Amino acid sequence: MNVKKYLLPNTQQYKVNLHAHTTVSDGHMTPEETKAYYKKNGYHAVAFTDHEVLVPHNDLTDDTFVALVGYEYSIPLGEKGPMRRYYHLNFLSRTPDVRTHVFFHPKAVWGNARNYLPTVEYKGEYVERVYSTEFVNRLISEAHEEGYLVQYNHPHWSLQYYPDYEGLEGVDFLEIFNTVVNASCRLDRDDHVFDDFLWLGKFPIPTGNDDNHNEAYEGEQRWDSLGAYNMVASEELSYEGLMSALESGATYATEGPRIHAIYAEGNKVTVVCSPVAYLRVQGNGRHGYTVPVHRDVGGIEGVTVEIAPEWKYFRVILEDEHGLRAYSRAYRVEEFLV
Ligand SMILES: [Zn+2]
Ligand SMILES: [Zn+2]
Repeated sequence: MNVKKYLLPNTQQYKVNLHAHTTVSDGHMTPEETKAYYKKNGYHAVAFTDHEVLVPHNDLTDDTFVALVGYEYSIPLGEKGPMRRYYHLNFLSRTPDVRTHVFFHPKAVWGNARNYLPTVEYKGEYVERVYSTEFVNRLISEAHEEGYLVQYNHPHWSLQYYPDYEGLEGVDFLEIFNTVVNASCRLDRDDHVFDDFLWLGKFPIPTGNDDNHNEAYEGEQRWDSLGAYNMVASEELSYEGLMSALESGATYATEGPRIHAIYAEGNKVTVVCSPVAYLRVQGNGRHGYTVPVHRDVGGIEGVTVEIAPEWKYFRVILEDEHGLRAYSRAYRVEEFLV
C-alpha cells in the first residue's frame, strides 16, 4: 500500500500578486488603493515592487492582508525605444525588515521614485550596471545575501532570448504570466522559457503576476490588474508563512483554473482541479501525458498518471474553456519516488 504524498501541500491556499507598481514609482494607484482593490478581489497579499526603490508598506499588513516588501531592478541594453533590451528582476524580501538595496546607483532611479532617494539604504560604492549574465549572477548572489528571493520578470517583454538567460544561476521565481505585458503589448506567456530552464537542469518556481500600473480604466482591455496570480499553500496568513511557502515551491501560477491537489502514491500522480478543457502532465523533453480533450469542454476535473522514472520531473498545465491557464512548478521524480 503506497502512502499518499502531497506535492502541493494539502492546506489553505492564499491568492498573491508578486509584482505591483504604485504611485511610489510609475503606478497610478496609491499603496492604500492597491491594497483595497486587491482585497476586494479576493487577494490575501500583494508584493509592492516599485521601480528601483525599496519602500516598505508593512503598515498595510493586518490579519487579512500581507504587504510583501520588494522592488524591481532594471538593467537596460541599447538606446531607449521599442528595441531596447532589459533584465528586469524583482527582489522580494524574505522578512518584512530587509532594507539594503543591492548594487545601488542613484542614476538608475527615475520618475516619482526619486522622491524616495533620501530613504535608500545601501552598502559600499555605487555600482554601474552591466548587461551581462556574469553581472546578473553576482547581483542575484548579493540579493540572496541581503535576504531577498529573486524573480526573473517577463523575459518576452524584455526582448530576451536563450543567450540572455541560459547562464543565469540562482533564479528563485520565473514570471510566466504578466498581465500588463499581455494587456498592453499582447505578448504571450513565457512558458517556453520555463522549459528551457528545466532542460538546463534549473528549477525556478513559475509565478503569475499583474505587474499592474493601473493607467487604464477598469474594464478596458488595457486594465492590468487581476489577470494572473499565485495560489500559495500555507498553514497561516503571515509574512513569513507566505514567503517560506513560496520559497519551498508550495504554490502554482494561474490565470483562473484552480489546482486543488497534486499528490503521489508510489509512481502514480494524481491532479485534482477545477473543471478545465485541457490537462497535461508533462515530463522532461517530449514525455508527457495529455488528457484527451472532449467536446464537452470544461469537463476534466483531474487525472491519475503513472510517472516513468526516465521522466526525471513533471509539471502540470491546465487550460479552461476560455483559454485561461494554470502552471504548477516542476516536481522532480526523487521528491516522491525513493
Ligand atoms: Zn519589468
Ligand atoms: Zn514591473
